Amino acid sequence: MATELRGRLVLADGVVPGRLVIEDGWLRAVDPDPADATAAGGPILAPGFIDVHVHGWGGHDATGDAAALDGMARALLRQGVTTFLPTAPTLAEDQLPGFADRVRSWMPHAPADGAEPLGFNLEGPFLAPSRKGAHDPALLRAPAAFTDDQVSALLDGLRVMTIAPELPGAIELIRKLAALGIAASMGHSAATLEEARAGYLAGAVTTTHLFNAMTGVDHRQPGLAVAALADDAVYVELIADRNHVHPALWPLVLRTKPADRLVLVSDALPLAGMPDGPGWIGGLACEVRDGRATLAGTDTLAGSVIALDTAVRNLVDEGTELAAAVLAASANPASLLGATDRGRLEPGRRAHVVELDDALRVRRVTRGDGWIEGAGRA
Ligand SMILES: [Zn+2]
Repeated sequence: MATELRGRLVLADGVVPGRLVIEDGWLRAVDPDPADATAAGGPILAPGFIDVHVHGWGGHDATGDAAALDGMARALLRQGVTTFLPTAPTLAEDQLPGFADRVRSWMPHAPADGAEPLGFNLEGPFLAPSRKGAHDPALLRAPAAFTDDQVSALLDGLRVMTIAPELPGAIELIRKLAALGIAASMGHSAATLEEARAGYLAGAVTTTHLFNAMTGVDHRQPGLAVAALADDAVYVELIADRNHVHPALWPLVLRTKPADRLVLVSDALPLAGMPDGPGWIGGLACEVRDGRATLAGTDTLAGSVIALDTAVRNLVDEGTELAAAVLAASANPASLLGATDRGRLEPGRRAHVVELDDALRVRRVTRGDGWIEGAGRA
């Protein structure tokens, strides 16, 4: 049975009144019609958001059991996130295969009223100790310290992996992931410009939370951030929560990177969406105060407490066009993952649609079959 929706469609190049026709979970028709007064007065209809870097939400931890993954998926959907990668922070070497196995065996049973998992993301352990951020330094490793078997055990379902390119064995691992179609993401790195360029040349396609845990834009000592900004082919993640990167830098990113290479991520902690208080990330104690999450007793940022709806809203508040902000939360992460069946309001793609009000709050969300009420959080 086909259903029709009318509203302001967020397309790749602008927002236009029009209608969507959904049938059997797919977009059958996408018809912009600037003259459609009903649609012009309707809600904002955007493609569902895709979060490729998220450690938990609503008190649920991506590294937990199936019930935790269920809870995380359901909490995310209510924020407009229709697709996600459960993301592990650095775990002990012997716990990595367990995380991978839990996500793999959970995926076929993931709830229909939750965000859909497309595999998992490993942010660690191949990170530079000097740029560890909120990762446990005792657990960091160089890729060269892992055997082929140890790496192989992680590959099934792996979609994104953060690697500091200057570590022993990093370039070989980046090449291996690239050959398998897994996105090597450079980050938590003290790489020089040359080391960063070597990583992209080896096949790294994206950049873990641009500016955070890497060399900044230093005009005498450029490093990973400069290499990432100057290379039109590579993606950059941005945590647009106003804490991780000052909003004054956002226009620099938006003007420097091609519009199809910015990927908004939440990097959210399990504590996201919960009242202020203490919690955990990767075995380290953290605390949330006034929307800012830090390692307990320090000023080290430990991740965000937002979801992608807030990131989109923040970007628009700071002057970005809605279509560009939504692109960075949907189409761009979809193409990073090679998920060509979603991410845009186009006929033939999945009917993952988020309905927003004029303040860009999530009213309701669909994965193509029925609607879930949004969290509507301002
Ligand atoms: Zn993270």
